[in-house]
Order: sequence, then C-alpha cells, then structure tokens
Amino acid sequence: MCGIVAGVSGQNIVPLLIDGLKRLEYRGYDSAGIALLQKGEILRLRAQGKVQSLEEKVREAKPSAHTGIAHTRWATHGIPSEINAHPHVSGKIALVHNGIIENYQLLREELQGAGFKFSSQTDTEVVAHLINFYYMKEQDFLTAVRKASQRLEGAYALAVICADRPDEVIGLRRGSPLVLGLSDSQGIFVASDIFALLAITRSYLTLEQGELVHVQGKGYQLYDS
Ligand code: GLU
Repeated sequence: MCGIVAGVSGQNIVPLLIDGLKRLEYRGYDSAGIALLQKGEILRLRAQGKVQSLEEKVREAKPSAHTGIAHTRWATHGIPSEINAHPHVSGKIALVHNGIIENYQLLREELQGAGFKFSSQTDTEVVAHLINFYYMKEQDFLTAVRKASQRLEGAYALAVICADRPDEVIGLRRGSPLVLGLSDSQGIFVASDIFALLAITRSYLTLEQGELVHVQGKGYQLYDS
C-alpha cells in the first residue's frame, strides 16, 4: 500500500511533503518521489529505497514551491527502481498514483500509436500520457483529468498537477483511499490517510468513491463521479 501526499500551500510546501511521506512510511514502500511547480516548470526528484534518500536529493537541490505532489511507491507493475518511481510526467502534467490500472496495456498501445514515448514499465505512466493527450486537445486541466479518468479501469487514487496551473492540484479517488486536509495557515492537501497530514491539520474530510477534488489556491471544489 503506497502513499500520496500533495497540496497547495501559502509557504514552501517541500518540508511539508517530505514530512508527510515520512508519516506514510509505515504503509511500506520501495521508492519515493516528489514533483513541484517552480516558475511554470515541473521539477521532479525520485529515489529508490528510503524517503531519506529522496530527502538527500532535496537537500542538494534546495527546491522551493507552493504546489507539489509526493509519493511512496509499492511496485505492482515494473520493478522497484528510480525510473519506475512516481511522479510520472508527460508534457505539462505530473501525477502520483496509488493502485492498479487494469486496462493499462490497451491504453499503452493506443498512446504509443498516437506517438507517446514510454520511459517506465508502470501502469501509472499510461495515466500521465492520457491526461496530457486530453490536455493538449482541450487546453483545460480539469476536463483533461475527467476525460482521462473515464477511460481508466481499476482501483486507484491520483494526485495531479499541471505546469500551466501553478496553484492547483486535482485529487481523484476511485477505490483507493484519499482524504482532503484543510488548514487556514498551511494550505489545502490531499493524502492517502490522515496520518500524512498530522503536522499540518486535524481538519479533514474523506473523499467518497468516484469523487474528484480540484484545489485552486485557498479554495477547493468537489465533484462527484
Ligand atoms: N501500480 C503503480 C506502480 O506499480 C502504483 C503502485 C502503488 O500503489 O504504489 O507504480
């Protein structure tokens, strides 16, 4: 069972995300990663093994950002490795994923046919390319995530960011758990469980099956399936 922690904060989100990942370590994992929105670009750092290895990379890179997604992976498709670690990126889209995409093989062939190049062995990378495919077509972040999710079979939770949307995160729950944490001082977060957010807030709500949350700065909107 892997872990997701992501959010939009008024302050540097990096230490909050790393703290969240450490609090998710009890769930078990084989690698960890983080993606941040910095000056309209996606900065991604990943490491096989412990969150501490990721933390060392973060310490060297010294990133600072208000918006980010972070993940501890428990491999189901593809070996534990840095290349297979999340976040996965396609164009302006980056995401972390918990669970399994059952129809990933079919989608992979379809996306390869459309010219997308795969760099990992995961089922997750299909989702990144699929959202990017719809984003390039629709030029709308929320629409792209919704259209892609309609094509996915399986049980999963996702947290997604878009380089064109500096203060936004979209969280989606279908099967795997996801909570929304709210803090006036620290921001709005999504996570696999409340333990990830204990240093940030005790105020949270659990997303229902099929629910999507669109965090935009200090506000958020919930959508049912
Ligand atoms: N199926 C995905 C993978 O193998 C996600 C696994 C997880 O939930 O950590 O990368």
